[in-house]
Amino acid sequence: MKTILWLREDLRLYDNLALNQAAADGEVIPVFFYPEHLGGASYWWLHHSLSRLAEQFAEHGVTLILRTGDPARVVLKLCEEIGSTKVVFNRVYSSRGMAQGQAVKQALQGADIECQSFNSQLLFEPGKIFNKQGTPFKVFTPFWKHCCAQLQPPAPQAFTTLKPVGDQPDSEQLSDWGLLPTRPNWAQGLADTWQPGEAGAQQRWQEFLNDRIQGYKEGRDFPEREQTSLLSPHLTFGEISPRQLWHDTQEAMASGLVDASNGNKFLAEIGWREFSRYLLVHFPQIETEAFNQKFADFPWKNSAKLLKAWQKGETGYPIVDAGMRELWHTGYMHNRVRMIVASFLTKHCLVHWQSGMDWFWDTLVDADVANNTASWQWVAGCGADAAPYFRIFNPILQGEKHDKLGVYVRRWVPELKKMPNKTIHQPWTADEETLAEAGVKLGKDYPRPIVDHADARAEALAAYQAIKSSS
Ligand SMILES: Cc1cc2nc3c(=O)[nH]c(=O)nc-3n(C[C@H](O)[C@H](O)[C@H](O)COP(=O)(O)OP(=O)(O)OC[C@H]3O[C@@H](n4cnc5c(N)ncnc54)[C@H](O)[C@@H]3O)c2cc1C
Repeated sequence: MKTILWLREDLRLYDNLALNQAAADGEVIPVFFYPEHLGGASYWWLHHSLSRLAEQFAEHGVTLILRTGDPARVVLKLCEEIGSTKVVFNRVYSSRGMAQGQAVKQALQGADIECQSFNSQLLFEPGKIFNKQGTPFKVFTPFWKHCCAQLQPPAPQAFTTLKPVGDQPDSEQLSDWGLLPTRPNWAQGLADTWQPGEAGAQQRWQEFLNDRIQGYKEGRDFPEREQTSLLSPHLTFGEISPRQLWHDTQEAMASGLVDASNGNKFLAEIGWREFSRYLLVHFPQIETEAFNQKFADFPWKNSAKLLKAWQKGETGYPIVDAGMRELWHTGYMHNRVRMIVASFLTKHCLVHWQSGMDWFWDTLVDADVANNTASWQWVAGCGADAAPYFRIFNPILQGEKHDKLGVYVRRWVPELKKMPNKTIHQPWTADEETLAEAGVKLGKDYPRPIVDHADARAEALAAYQAIKSSS
């Protein structure tokens, strides 16, 4: 049997359920459709990931077919072209992903072509998980407790060899898709930081599991330490399976190589990823609206000037600027710093969380519709199980706590590298002599704060009070 394997957010060979089904059926024709909705950094990643995947398939004599157009229409055309009677794919748990999957199934049904789909993106099937009242969970901790106690993710499936089809269908050229930036090429920092593709994902995972996971629980909050897994873009593009992470971590804990507090903390973060997708499945409106409807009337100020300063890393708050510059340079930002910059934009600047989310969407290599939406709403205080709105991060104290010696700030904001530790997180409080010795002229070499922390905090609380009392 010739089976079409429709690839999407599952760019890997190992533990890929749809791929294994296609291989078991007979000859495999993998196809990937041009996605129209990604941001710039994701397109950069996608180019390299597809290029690696095509090489992996080529080792088995199989060609990765690239096509443009509506998947439902083109997959049907492809079936007719090559005489295929079956299509398999892994489900993508987002509004767009589920709608596309549904459309493909319907189109194939009409043409009497078999279609099978699988869950290879998540540990647990979101549509099957409910609380005791039979309604969807809205709070992470009971959700995750329920998942861990009641369900057991199946073990990862080994990769089986592939059988190519005799007559390969035509493919578009990856280079013609124009996914890489050219003028200017802003992606050099991304290339220096990442190795997209399954081999890069497995390498990152082994490095983390053999070393950095010990110390994860305590160290994950300090951006200058490379203590987290750095797997997020690999997970976003499906280059590594969450079931592998789950089972490898369980084994490492059982054999005593990883202690339970670190292993379980890491798995709980994978749990947050599950929860974000779960929320999208049960509350799809949160991709565009606040989960907490009270926030529909929030008096955002949406200053274009403040948004621009934030995007460029020129807010005058060193930990915020360091994060935004790390993002621009590498396509990544440490989780603690993501929380600080998101809080700063939504609460200090009163800019709508969607503007921040859009910027992240365009600049993150791990841009993920579920994690991005849920996390922005979590920080802004309007999400499911969100941080309370009145908890406003103080960017100075956050810097002093999580980057005590200013190592992270000095790395990404080099104009402050000679500032002493005492004032590195609030250079505007340094006296003239200290600033002169550090070679910093405020307002020239480094900006003065674009908002005053105490005033901005008071204004944010008043705005929140307004929607609270109007309900
Ligand atoms: C405002 C904001 C926006 C974010 N946008 C994204 C995004 O677009 N894509 C994305 O993958 N993550 C996003 N995150 C979550 C988190 O910051 C990243 O997943 C994490 O920093 C990735 O680094 P890591 O792989 O080393 O994480 P680790 O600490 O090693 O965690 C392992 C994996 O767990 C998942 N994970 C970790 N933290 C979270 C979380 N809070 N919510 C959901 N899943 C999580 C990720 O898949 C991550 O790769 C966002 C967080 C914030 C505060």
